[in-house]
Amino acid sequence: MIIVMRPDATPDQVEHVKMLVREQGLKDHPIVGTDLTVVAVIGDDRRKDKGVFEQAPGVDRVVPILAPYKMAARETRPTKTQVRIGSNCVFGGVQIPVVAGPCSVESEAKLLEVSRMIKAAGASAIRGGAFKPRTNPYSFQGLGEEGLKYLAEAREETGLPIITEVLNIADVELVAKYADCLQIGTRNSQNFKLLEACGRQPKPVLLKRGMAMTIDEFLQAAEYILAEGNPNVILCERGIRTFEDHTRNTLSLSAIPELHHRTHLPVVSDPSHGTGHARLVADMSRASIAAGADGLLLEVHQDPQHAMTDGAQSITPAALAELMPSLARVAEAVDRRCDALVGAGV
Ligand code: PEP
Ligand code: MN
Repeated sequence: MIIVMRPDATPDQVEHVKMLVREQGLKDHPIVGTDLTVVAVIGDDRRKDKGVFEQAPGVDRVVPILAPYKMAARETRPTKTQVRIGSNCVFGGVQIPVVAGPCSVESEAKLLEVSRMIKAAGASAIRGGAFKPRTNPYSFQGLGEEGLKYLAEAREETGLPIITEVLNIADVELVAKYADCLQIGTRNSQNFKLLEACGRQPKPVLLKRGMAMTIDEFLQAAEYILAEGNPNVILCERGIRTFEDHTRNTLSLSAIPELHHRTHLPVVSDPSHGTGHARLVADMSRASIAAGADGLLLEVHQDPQHAMTDGAQSITPAALAELMPSLARVAEAVDRRCDALVGAGV
């Protein structure tokens, strides 16, 4: 960090600040300018409280230099991290996987049916919530472990890996037993104990951006998982709350290149929650790929009008099949690939 002194700071005040820096086990490097003095702090100050310096007399402001996250930072790892889920679905490589499936697992028959259709349409992985975070306590809360079993069956049947949400620490082991990748939803994105628990288990984690989270906070949340020893974190931009109400959330497309600038972790986009309207999903999927997304997370339902959750934003398997070729064309324009998996005739 750099401590900027006020123009009228006295030499004693500068000396005091230098002493405070050394007290913290860091080195001070004062730079005396014509108008004011700044004290550069040398050393890793991320664990230090910058408030200590802001309180000192004569200090104007404190400017952090190091990102507050370390393992997630681009500088720590110049090459992009590739996260593999299942045997051949890789996020962060040239190929851009499409993860598709219903918001919630509703029944065994419906999940198996939509999973076959999704595979035939060309998706690389299946999504579906067994534990649902609902705003209203009386809304459908998901099928729980029964839903996880159906997801495992869908994987068995299609060969596609599955991503599903874990809502609390007590369920981490259970969800990890069935899932190929654990999803942490927007509402839990700063549930630090849950992040740590997911960091201590071996399955990859798809971390959604909190709906009111800055990019810095998002990366610090990812750092909680990484710091516990799990390097396989996929970030997901799923829209944030703004004043705009023509969409359910505002899908922050510029967050995608900005995240790539700051981190080596793969970044996927969720245009379903990011817009809330099925009619916007295709365009925002293409735009996400153009903006550098390493994957897409799409809600797909065979009968959106009867979906138990998020029907308004769910596209049909037919719409997905229609979308795939144009995703491939956009991917090609940005030197990527978004090839449809060849459906096994299902
Ligand atoms: C979901 O993926 O169905 C979901 C609940 O997402 P989010 O946490 O982004 O709202
Ligand atoms: Mn949903």
